[in-house]
Amino acid sequence: MTMVSQDSRDVRSDGEPPWLRPRSVYVHIPFCAHKCGYCDFASLAGADDLADRYLDALDQEMRRGLEGRPRVETIFIGGGTPTRLEPWQLERLLVRIRDLVELTPGGEWTVEANPGTLDDRKITVLAEGGVNRISLGAQSFQPSSLKALERNHDPEDVPRAVALIQHRFERWSLDLIFGAPGSTLDQWRDDLERAIALGPSHLSCYGLVYEKGTSLWKQWNAGEVQAVAEDVEHDMYAMTIDRLTHVGLRHYEISNFARPGHESQHNLVYWANDAYYGFGLGATRYVNGVRSSNTRDLLAYLRRIEQGQEATGPTERLDLEQRARETAVLMLRRLDLGIDREDFRTRCGLDLDALCGESLARSVARGWLIDDGRRLKLSRTGLFLADTVMSDLL
Ligand code: SF4
Repeated sequence: MTMVSQDSRDVRSDGEPPWLRPRSVYVHIPFCAHKCGYCDFASLAGADDLADRYLDALDQEMRRGLEGRPRVETIFIGGGTPTRLEPWQLERLLVRIRDLVELTPGGEWTVEANPGTLDDRKITVLAEGGVNRISLGAQSFQPSSLKALERNHDPEDVPRAVALIQHRFERWSLDLIFGAPGSTLDQWRDDLERAIALGPSHLSCYGLVYEKGTSLWKQWNAGEVQAVAEDVEHDMYAMTIDRLTHVGLRHYEISNFARPGHESQHNLVYWANDAYYGFGLGATRYVNGVRSSNTRDLLAYLRRIEQGQEATGPTERLDLEQRARETAVLMLRRLDLGIDREDFRTRCGLDLDALCGESLARSVARGWLIDDGRRLKLSRTGLFLADTVMSDLL
């Protein structure tokens, strides 16, 4: 039976529990040119005429949800496709955020963009508005994979967008997806080489997930498309790790690679399980130990905010043990840092081994985790079985 220390405290050494004081702000822009087949995000096409109304609602929600003008380390505007907004709408959004939130000196401000939605004017608005990092959703350079994923850009749109970004931003990232239906190992190799040739300082490479209810899931469920075989997907991930680390992109999180110093500071806040604000359609927040998400229904979101109500849907207050287990799982995603026992105790107020020592020992014995006495990290084998290791911890 797992024993949990009773005299532990929910505080770190400076007296401030990390889950109480948000370090980051997430702002969601749901508009897209088109709904991609695999997409399970709170996003929708054909609603651009609601963008001004949405920005008003967002402004109201942020004013109500922020305490004073908080200082944060990172801001992330995600979507959806934030760069689907017109330049003047983007500018308005950035001004509102700057009015309501103070970004610490050296802080990171990221905006997600899609190929085909960027132009000189938008890039200038972003750069001059305080944004210092762009995350570009390339996904693939193969026409067949883009088609299978129902993306609505061409491979040539990616270098065009990168040329605009590089001109103004030193820090930028490309997102790629491996395992699109019908894709081969050779095609994935080509995707990696074409991404590397563009010179990003950060790359995110995710295996395709068939999210229930999406158009792609329906096709797969009806037998109209075949998922890539498991061993091919395994080889794609192995190739990703070998090739990207070979060119100096450090593998710092299960699916993320970066030149030293170019890691996503915003995502590192999530992976430390620290607190963050979240605003907009479907946005999640973790404030004062409570995790909650907004409704994913755009009209309901607008109506509720306009009527002075909260747009919050599911809410959960995590108890000490739940939060600690979640923290352990998230920390394991960070490949260099892993779970540092001392740091864990300071942040969570619990002893890691008392909480989940048996489960950790099982994974160590199988060679999935490496334990140097101070830290536990995923091994190379463990990377491929991370879901199993993590669900055992939970
Ligand atoms: S662009 Fe991104 S958010 Fe929009 S539909 Fe496609 S995957 Fe979803």
